[in-house]
Amino acid sequence: MKICELFQMKKVFSFEVFPPRRIDSVSIIYDTIEKLKGLNPDFISVTYSAGGSESNTDTFKIASAIKNNYGIESVAHLPSINHTKGEVLKMLEDLRTAGIENILALRGDVNPSFSPKNDFKFASDLISFIKEHGDFNIIAACYPEGHFESPSIIDDIRNLKRKVDAGANQLITQLFFDNNYFYSFMERAAIAGINIPIEAGIMPVVNKKQIERIVALCRVNLPKKFLAIMNRYENNPEALRDAGIAYAVDQIIDLIAQGVDGIHLYTMNNPYIAHRIYEAINTLLVA
Ligand code: FAD
Repeated sequence: MKICELFQMKKVFSFEVFPPRRIDSVSIIYDTIEKLKGLNPDFISVTYSAGGSESNTDTFKIASAIKNNYGIESVAHLPSINHTKGEVLKMLEDLRTAGIENILALRGDVNPSFSPKNDFKFASDLISFIKEHGDFNIIAACYPEGHFESPSIIDDIRNLKRKVDAGANQLITQLFFDNNYFYSFMERAAIAGINIPIEAGIMPVVNKKQIERIVALCRVNLPKKFLAIMNRYENNPEALRDAGIAYAVDQIIDLIAQGVDGIHLYTMNNPYIAHRIYEAINTLLVA
């Protein structure tokens, strides 16, 4: 199923998982998916070399298992920066064969350790290419605080409109910790004529190391309220975890009340956290 069709029927609730690191057993991820399945997600997306590392063949394998073995719609992330057009064509063929209809089309992060292949300069080039070579539902990334390489937030919205005009059917945001960024972004998007569904990406922060990694990687702002909570409980892992979950739930309740199209939970492969959040917001999703 093309998941963009779901937004006409309901508030979409979805998860992101990442392939296990090479040293971990791949069965770990299937255990995670089994546990996430009980939460009836509308889809699960699988990252691909997030952070700019080279290839990761597990992404498509896991996305295929989610769809074909667990009966949940899946989204395969596809960053193009390190791939040629020929390689992407082969990937599209593999995805088609696996019955995967939904692709999150990305440029990917620039990693100084790999020289980019230059066939796709921006995600919009990849989106046009996918559109030309198959009947996929195309999702694109967006950035409520602006993408860090963009000279301005207005330039970033113009570039986002390019992705929509190229054929993106829906958007998922970068994580954010202050909903006001999201609401301002939604206003800019509407002014720019972007009127496809936009899911808010929410990451429950549950340990200090994770916060440091996120800030370095995603370059998002940490509001004072959030920092105060994290500083207060930094030496108490259980309290920090509970505070992180409560913070995410608070964000989600506000977003739902304001009419968000959907919530995409960055699960960090942690079904316990996903369960806690689901329990807190489950009734709100259908109200
Ligand atoms: P683009 O849309 O191409 O934008 C990149 C930059 O170029 C932006 O600053 C944009 O404003 C600018 N730009 C775009 N078009 C033009 C133009 N025509 N002219 C001038 N400037 C332009 N990374 C991974 O490696 N693997 C993943 O699995 C992954 N999953 C992600 C999931 C989500 C929901 C999100 C939000 C991000 C994800 N990322 C992932 C990170 C993403 O790859 C990086 O943020 C990357 O730096 C930008 O990718 P993009 O697709 O948004 O690029």
